Amino acid sequence: MSVRRRALAELGVGVGLLALAAGLTVDVLSPPKKADAEKPRTVVTNAMLQAARTDNRCTRGRVALTFDDGPDIYTPQILKVLRAYRVRATFFVMGQKAAARPGLIRAEAADGHLVENHSWSHPHLADLDQAQIDWQLAATQRAITTAGAPAPTLLRPPFGNTSATVDGEAKLLGLRVIRWSIDTDDWRGREPGDIAASVLDQVVPGSVVLMHDGVRQSAATVQALPTVIRGLRARGFCTALATD
Ligand SMILES: [Zn+2]
Repeated sequence: MSVRRRALAELGVGVGLLALAAGLTVDVLSPPKKADAEKPRTVVTNAMLQAARTDNRCTRGRVALTFDDGPDIYTPQILKVLRAYRVRATFFVMGQKAAARPGLIRAEAADGHLVENHSWSHPHLADLDQAQIDWQLAATQRAITTAGAPAPTLLRPPFGNTSATVDGEAKLLGLRVIRWSIDTDDWRGREPGDIAASVLDQVVPGSVVLMHDGVRQSAATVQALPTVIRGLRARGFCTALATD
């Protein structure tokens, strides 16, 4: 799937992209209704959580697990796995989804995870003008703090695309731009084993792992997560927050 088609999928309905293409302001976009209508598959099993009490020793270094594009229907299952393994992670959330599911934002923060800024509606920020960029970032900050989480200090621009203007607007809001170093491509519909292998084959001290809790393919990410955590710990890596 191309990046452009992914944008379309994430917006849920084509009209969102059409609105952007027509130059309308982004706040006319509605949350992705298609995802709302979809029921999550229950993926977490007791067997997945059995070996949860593994040590989190940093003998080889730290790794940041990060989850993008939520909060959404698979976020509660991601949180359940993280809680069982006592892992703290970083969620880069979309403002429009934070506004739609504030309880999940509160749950993320309550579990000690970082809740960070991933824009309001997942546009290519570098294609927007300064006022639109500012709105995308500031409205997302407001949605997150209104939900009850601390104000984000990190911005992960959608698709990793940024520009001097985006960086400048982020800085004005106290946001540091961060990308990732390992892309699991979990949103492409990969098998859980392949998602886990992409992490465990590439991991080095300081790796920042990109996964998704807010896409339709996130069931596979939930299934991969225990293998990822156990594999990292078996290799001497501990899991840490993106700001650690
Ligand atoms: Zn994203």
